Amino acid sequence: MKSSNLGYPRIGQNREWKKALEAFWAGKLEEADFHAQLKQIRLQNLKKQQEQGIEIIPVGDFTYYDHILDTAVMFGLIPARFEYNGGKVSLATYYDIARGNTKATAGEMTKWFNTNYHYIVPELKGIKPVLTENRLLTAYREAKQELNIEGRPVLVGPYTLLKLSKGYEQQELGAWIEQLLPLYAQVLTELQAEGVTWIQIDEPIITTSLSNDDKKHITHIYNYLTNSVSSLNILLQTYFEAVDDYEFVTGLPVHGLGLDFVHDRGANLAAISKFGFPAGKVLSAGVIDGRGIWKADLHQKLKLLKELNQYAAQIIIAPSNSLLHVPVTTAGETKLDPVLRDALSFADEKLTEIVTLTKGINEGEAVIESQLIDVAKRRDTLAQSPSRDVKSVHALVANLTDEQSNRKSKAEVRRKLQEQKFKLPLLPTTTIGSFPQTPEVRAARQKWRKKIWSEERYNSFIENEIKFWIEEQEKLNLDVLVHGEFERTDMVEFFGEKLEGFAFTSNGWVQSYGSRCVKPPVIYGDVDLSQPMTVKETVFAQSLTKLPVKGMLTGPITILNWSFVRDDIPRKEVAYQIAFALQKEVEALENAGIGMIQVDEPALREGLPLKREQWAEYLNWSVRAFKLSTATVQDETQIHTHMCYSEFHDIIDDISALDADVISIETSRSHGELISSFESYHYDKGIGLGVYDIHSPRVPSVEEMTVMIDRALRVLDPALFWINPDCGLKTRKYDETVAALANMVKATEAARLKYNSVKAK
Ligand code: GLN
Ligand code: ZN
Repeated sequence: MKSSNLGYPRIGQNREWKKALEAFWAGKLEEADFHAQLKQIRLQNLKKQQEQGIEIIPVGDFTYYDHILDTAVMFGLIPARFEYNGGKVSLATYYDIARGNTKATAGEMTKWFNTNYHYIVPELKGIKPVLTENRLLTAYREAKQELNIEGRPVLVGPYTLLKLSKGYEQQELGAWIEQLLPLYAQVLTELQAEGVTWIQIDEPIITTSLSNDDKKHITHIYNYLTNSVSSLNILLQTYFEAVDDYEFVTGLPVHGLGLDFVHDRGANLAAISKFGFPAGKVLSAGVIDGRGIWKADLHQKLKLLKELNQYAAQIIIAPSNSLLHVPVTTAGETKLDPVLRDALSFADEKLTEIVTLTKGINEGEAVIESQLIDVAKRRDTLAQSPSRDVKSVHALVANLTDEQSNRKSKAEVRRKLQEQKFKLPLLPTTTIGSFPQTPEVRAARQKWRKKIWSEERYNSFIENEIKFWIEEQEKLNLDVLVHGEFERTDMVEFFGEKLEGFAFTSNGWVQSYGSRCVKPPVIYGDVDLSQPMTVKETVFAQSLTKLPVKGMLTGPITILNWSFVRDDIPRKEVAYQIAFALQKEVEALENAGIGMIQVDEPALREGLPLKREQWAEYLNWSVRAFKLSTATVQDETQIHTHMCYSEFHDIIDDISALDADVISIETSRSHGELISSFESYHYDKGIGLGVYDIHSPRVPSVEEMTVMIDRALRVLDPALFWINPDCGLKTRKYDETVAALANMVKATEAARLKYNSVKAK
């Protein structure tokens, strides 16, 4: 067997890549120097893989921003609003598409399958594709010349590329394939002429649900591409799930097939043992988790590889997907508890695991015995650590009943009681939680973190911010207020830092989009709450006003989906643990006199499995976890939730099943669609569809918001409707915020006059 990699993080060990990009954009780095710096990072990345002993090293996976944009640009898919005059695409145009310019908006950005990586959506409208540059050839030559590496070029496959693109009709898909295929074939033949023997073509789309039409197209594509080459071998690489139709995929005329044996729920392994593997094809076996951060159980991986070897004679050992989804190395994590640190494996450590497994298979287990013992010890130490043995938490989850997730009374009973308690006007106004995080707020937090400011000084700073904004909200005449979230940097980190079972790395960055990197918390132990997290600020805010102040929490599913999660127990159990901890916080807020509590779940939808048939199971436990976190309050206590990032029409039942008394949903990016789903769906609880887009600094007029309100009230009951912006206001400036909210209140006042009669009947 051979060792291989499918893709390496581009950000550099200390985010040098991010820093170079941002310096270049800010005009602080000349283009030539910029290219030189990026080349250095690129070569460094290759060298590390070479030195680790990886035999098959990917080339062409490095990018100046996003590899989907690279592929689009390579095939001339440049939206007409950007400047392009043929030939190689300039760096200026490339970054204009990625980031927009004064004249043209950037390409839309969306999530890469079910990961937290975002790519630029290619736009096909009105475009004639051309090959602008064979960037794989350039990458291959560079690796060979500079480091004597015979790399394996990586290319996003035509079907995945087209399926993720927008700006064409379904019936045009076939024609698009015909236009792209000769260009793909040209890339392949040029590589072949250069002496390249293998190319990795990524087609993760194959792990989603495929229709018969999809299969026809895919068959045609791979017939065409294999026929276009003779000595170049194609590895068709899939990941993130099991392939949808194993017999179909193994029947494709490619030379090698890459399968994910980590995130396949056992389905790829089951299929291979049922149907076998075609003789003569190479299997790229994704056995090392390319998305998780835990050291692999090498014993079990060896067993798996041997089992696979019964069906496939030629195996390449690989990570389950590109390592771009994990941080670079654990080397700098000196501040972590050694028990945890020793059990972590980031990109570099994963490569070591792959090399070790390859050795163990090829030279016998005895050769790697010390590594096997070492990793087993590290994994055991964490498994047996007190952090994973919190008996009270285990007992709660083990004894969890369905009943426990239900509120005491039904929504309509609660509504009556809440109406009596809060006596809110028709169409109550509120906001989503955060107010502007000004440079002063961020500077204050830095000073406190660096201990330049004392706890008292920082607290009084935060209290002043809260006081200022409570007064502003009262002046604006809003009905339900918030404290503003000034004490929070990030809606998951803030809670993770206060909950047991979470850890924070020093350098565990992963790319989220463009130069933006995130450092997800690590959930390594049992999750528990020992001290209230939000009571102090919320109670302080409430003490300043007679109007209700909403408590503000991040929900269990969002915390789960935006963290690296332990893999020794099912995700749903971790979700229930978080839910129980949040339940304590919800109760603490209620006991402190807070009557409305919002539990945000913006990431609920993004956790959806790739395959439709798995949705119900995920939604079932995630809805249950949300409900559990909010179930124990009194009927009079009003539970709110908030969601964003569009496309809710297909999970509207589940949103309703959350049983929140009031929900606010972002609508700016899918307004019409969402409204039409309420035409056929009778929503019977409080609901606010954002009446203006907070992502733009532009202050929307009263008229615009009136249009939004009227449109929503054509399908929703005015007696249940709330008026609020789309999402939190933390990225906005003071002036914009106050002006927009003032207009929102004016639009509401007009709407109240208009819809009052509707309520009366
Ligand atoms: N309460 C959060 C805020 O207002 C919600 C953020 C979100 O939906 N992403 O910032
Ligand atoms: Zn939001």
